Amino acid sequence: MKLVRYGAAGNEKPGLIDDDGKLRDLSGHIDDINGAALAPDVIARLKVIDQTALPELDSDTRLGSPVGNVRTFLAIGLNYADHAEEAGLRIPREPVIFNKVSTCICGPDDDVMMPRDCQKLDWEVELAFVIGKRARYVSEADAADYITGYTICNDVSERHFQTERSGQWVKGKSAETFGPLGPWLVTADEIGNVDNLAMSLDVNGQRRQTGNTATMIFKIPHILAYVSQFMVLEPGDVITTGTPPGVALGMKEPVYLKAGDVMSSAIDGLGQQAQKVVPFKL
Ligand code: ZN
Repeated sequence: MKLVRYGAAGNEKPGLIDDDGKLRDLSGHIDDINGAALAPDVIARLKVIDQTALPELDSDTRLGSPVGNVRTFLAIGLNYADHAEEAGLRIPREPVIFNKVSTCICGPDDDVMMPRDCQKLDWEVELAFVIGKRARYVSEADAADYITGYTICNDVSERHFQTERSGQWVKGKSAETFGPLGPWLVTADEIGNVDNLAMSLDVNGQRRQTGNTATMIFKIPHILAYVSQFMVLEPGDVITTGTPPGVALGMKEPVYLKAGDVMSSAIDGLGQQAQKVVPFKL
């Protein structure tokens, strides 16, 4: 099942993409695609409804993040060996966890705004997973029971804030619109093998990142088990799992994003998203 949230920013309604690719309204069945709606029993109930009976919507309707009310939005750093190398950093012995503050989340095709004093705006296509069940000290063997599904995340980053100012990465990862998610939340049963998904990101139509989840250092069950040793995760929380090589930071002479540039990302089975970079405005 491909779940979506559609409509104006801040006022999204739940929907799905049916087997024919049509956008349909789910608001007769659930209030939103959020923590409560991601419980395994709710997902099971949604799976058996007659999709053709749901109201059909215009295909050009804006999509928001496919999960609403995200409380905790975490990211894994340096989770692809070749990206760690281009960043000039050692392959970590344990997963590097950092926070993307959840107010950075936006729709898959929304504009990405350069923050005030932006100098080095960069892109990172990533596979993100969404929690469906409260997770405390989860074992790797049980991890799948806690994951509702998957979506694309562009882990938009300001490298000057992230690495040239003191303190933690969170500063360079959390600005407004730095977390495009979507277009769909694809349920785990539909995605197949998450350890073999091709992924790519283009800037202005030029291929910058080419990767495959097969080269992730820490796989998803390990990430979830690991994170849940340090904190409780709730339904609707999102963890994005790291980026393959090809970011601006890794270039010999980095070409960072400027206003008017367009980033387009795709991951097998998860669709595609695209954002235009726009100047800062309050
Ligand atoms: Zn990242």
